[in-house]
Amino acid sequence: MIVDANFDGGNIVIVDDTHTANIELHIRSDNKADHSQWFYFRASMIKNAKSNFFITNAGHASYPEAWPTCSIVVSTDRKHWQRLDTDYKDGTLHFSYKGEADIAYFALFVPYSYEQHQDLVSWSLLQAHCELLACGQSIEHRPVELIQVGDAAKHKKNIWLISRQHPAETMAEWFIEGFLKALLSNGNSSVQALLDKATFYIVPNMNPDGSITGNLRTNAAGVDLNRAWLEPDRSTAPEVHFVFEQMKKIGVDLFLDIHGDEDIPYAFIAGAEGNPSYTDKLAELDSEFRKVFAQATADFCIDNGYDADLPLQGDLSIACNQIGEYFDCLSLTIEMPFTDNKYQKDDVHGWSPERSMQLGENVLIPISELLNKL
Ligand code: ZN
Repeated sequence: MIVDANFDGGNIVIVDDTHTANIELHIRSDNKADHSQWFYFRASMIKNAKSNFFITNAGHASYPEAWPTCSIVVSTDRKHWQRLDTDYKDGTLHFSYKGEADIAYFALFVPYSYEQHQDLVSWSLLQAHCELLACGQSIEHRPVELIQVGDAAKHKKNIWLISRQHPAETMAEWFIEGFLKALLSNGNSSVQALLDKATFYIVPNMNPDGSITGNLRTNAAGVDLNRAWLEPDRSTAPEVHFVFEQMKKIGVDLFLDIHGDEDIPYAFIAGAEGNPSYTDKLAELDSEFRKVFAQATADFCIDNGYDADLPLQGDLSIACNQIGEYFDCLSLTIEMPFTDNKYQKDDVHGWSPERSMQLGENVLIPISELLNKL
């Protein structure tokens, strides 16, 4: 057997492959930061062979509390993925697999490659009402695309969505794909009505360098972008600096920051309750958004997965808090699970790209319903 992760988004270190029935692996930390959890690797020459994979440094990962309920994904063609029984004991994550084909891929969640990202951006820009408004640059000089959907006008609301500040949270870009495909689909009358009143600004991937490198949380400079919004540093967090400057030019009436949470087993929203200027009006909008979203889909849970910040305790280096405070607008972080929604279990696929995309489509419902109040 040959194990490797030398590809887009790959992450694994081979510790001992002397006995191909029992392979010992490590998860590699982010290239310039001490974060780890994401892995994605390929095993070759495995047809009909049964192998045990032991990730023996899993206990040192950033969220070891997530491992006991974790179920990883496997695929033989990188199109169809299914869950694989996974166990965790004494700091080691273990799974066994009998090769159905010569090659199999294993990952923490279904990857969303940079190639897919480029395809999504190009496809979007070929649709009506969609343009590339501006491009930032990452540390490694990859474009950070800001896509505009709908014409801008003074009377319209400015709705912003960003995703993959944390590159391993690939479900966030699946969510954006579902959102864009719904928003750009021809002949949808409710979308037409929405575009009469709103302009959308979307950054499908905030962290292309971290995505390609197979990082968990940080960019090529080792910065957690979702802790870089207080005074974005152009040299170490150019991705955030670019997007914040664009927001200041355009304005923000609603901000949605799309993420995944390794541990909490359902999709939920975190708000900006701890902001200094948080108002009763924002609290009402937040609560109504959650209510309408939960009515729209059983895959969104109205429970707050995190404890809400106490008044004045919000961390303004987090995008959701900073943007809510700066623009006095409804500002929300949407989180999805890595393994499954415990209220709507799917034993074969768990939480999947399809469910992430559907959630992205469904978020148009609370946006539409609340638009006049934003
Ligand atoms: Zn995140």
